[in-house]
Amino acid sequence: MQPPTRPRQPGDGWVECGCGLRHWGLYGAAGLLLVRRDDDGGATAVVLQHRVEWSHHGGTWGVPGGARMPGENAADAALREAAEEAGIDRASVRLRSESVLAHPDWSYTTVIADEVVPVDPAVTDAESLELRWVSLDDVAALPLLPAFGDAWPALRRQLDP
Ligand SMILES: [Zn+2]
Repeated sequence: MQPPTRPRQPGDGWVECGCGLRHWGLYGAAGLLLVRRDDDGGATAVVLQHRVEWSHHGGTWGVPGGARMPGENAADAALREAAEEAGIDRASVRLRSESVLAHPDWSYTTVIADEVVPVDPAVTDAESLELRWVSLDDVAALPLLPAFGDAWPALRRQLDP
């Protein structure tokens, strides 16, 4: 499969990081971890993105997100990417907290938000095979994007009120 032609944005590009790896996003990257809660406020499910095969770590599951643009804060980047990739309207969510993974030359911010009106995520660009709500108990059984898989246990603990 060939990558689609997506207009290049100012933050698009690889960073050669002091950790020895390459990361996507010249100004760092951010993703939205959208949480559904039951009537008691307990977290029950999150929106995950099944990444297309041609993407970095294609075929794995992660959260919708991508490169930040210059001057764009993590929350705005995460919400913009979630709108582009998953059709998630920012008016449907309430920001809750942020979790930053800091590298020598790069960072990834997971923006945690609660669903405030029903969100039905949908594939709205060429970067996803599927977007759906995944029960918290089922997340760890999916083939996760390595960085998300590493972060998931700590992120899950942050979901509790
Ligand atoms: Zn790094």
